[in-house]
Amino acid sequence: MRTDDPLHVRLLRLLRDEGAVSRAELGDRLQMPRPRLLAELERLVNLGYVAEAGLAASRGGRRSTLVELNPRLRFAAVDLGASSIDVEVVNGRLEPVAAYGEAADIRSGPKVILQRVNELLHKAKVDGAYERLDAVGVGVPGPVSFRDGLPVSPPIMPGWDRFPVRELLTREHGCPAVVDNDVNIMAIGERHGGVAHSVDDFLFVKIGTGIGCGIYLSGEVYRGTDGCAGDIGHIQVDSHGPMCSCGNVGCLEALFSGAALAKDAAAAARNGTSAALAERLAANGTVTALDVAEGAVEGDVACIQLIRDGGRRVGGVLAGLVSFANPSMIVIGGGLAQLGHILLAEIRSVVYRRSLPLATGNLPVVLSELGPRAGVAGAAVLASDVAFGEAS
Ligand SMILES: [Zn+2]
Repeated sequence: MRTDDPLHVRLLRLLRDEGAVSRAELGDRLQMPRPRLLAELERLVNLGYVAEAGLAASRGGRRSTLVELNPRLRFAAVDLGASSIDVEVVNGRLEPVAAYGEAADIRSGPKVILQRVNELLHKAKVDGAYERLDAVGVGVPGPVSFRDGLPVSPPIMPGWDRFPVRELLTREHGCPAVVDNDVNIMAIGERHGGVAHSVDDFLFVKIGTGIGCGIYLSGEVYRGTDGCAGDIGHIQVDSHGPMCSCGNVGCLEALFSGAALAKDAAAAARNGTSAALAERLAANGTVTALDVAEGAVEGDVACIQLIRDGGRRVGGVLAGLVSFANPSMIVIGGGLAQLGHILLAEIRSVVYRRSLPLATGNLPVVLSELGPRAGVAGAAVLASDVAFGEAS
């Protein structure tokens, strides 16, 4: 927790992350004189953010009253992927009270996609998940102007450029909204409730349809001037490599991403190098990254090699980032994290071999703990932060 955040924000975050706390302990933890704390609590009770929760166990002397976040608080967390919508409604402690997920094509445009988000949220309301929302947090698969709450020139989201996502959601739900990049919200989720819990300097690498990196430095997400910091999928790793969707050649994600791996897998199935993939191609008419993962588990040499090649390329890029930023952890997430320990072992070996020894002396490279929930979890954290900020 940052000590320069306003008192009410620190207080509300503490209740969010730890549940009911006694007034006496709150005073100690926030180093707050009792009269000022009591005045602040009364103000937050009147605003509907905080509620009393009975008496604490005795610490000797008078028993202190417990306080908690108002049980009525509700935040909406939305994770928009290239081909999916995930929506959760969570309580003040960020525990899900309703969750919906479905396939959707982000290229359908903002009107169609956001209307569907609103329909899902309306359904949650009808189902009794909330009476009113206190904030909405959204992640989108492209660069975002965090300050303006809208996507900026997103390559895989035609029609979304500068579409006022935050404004539309604020108007629809009558509460503050916040918009961020999908990889950033995954990093935020993993730091709040996952493997990077309370780690201040780490990289969250999403390997899925594309490849991106959430950058946490000194306890804050680093978004860059234009909101596209961490777009590592378009770092060139092979000047003679294949054409990338961005128009350049040999980008990391043109060589290793969901689409690139499926293409390589299809080639390995056809040219006879992989029996496991040939079998699956014959049975299903297509092969995917998941088939490669399954083939590798069965010991298929070509599948294992495909994953190793990908891991080596990702590791090469990460080695540069480690020397540059000196993080204390690297978290690997996204759909291709299902390639599991073979991918992880290869990334580790390249990062450890190629980065500065001082920077890798104690550098865990680990898989995401929240998996597919990382995005909504982070969107919920962002939503609660923006709501708490407004309680002034
Ligand atoms: Zn590219």
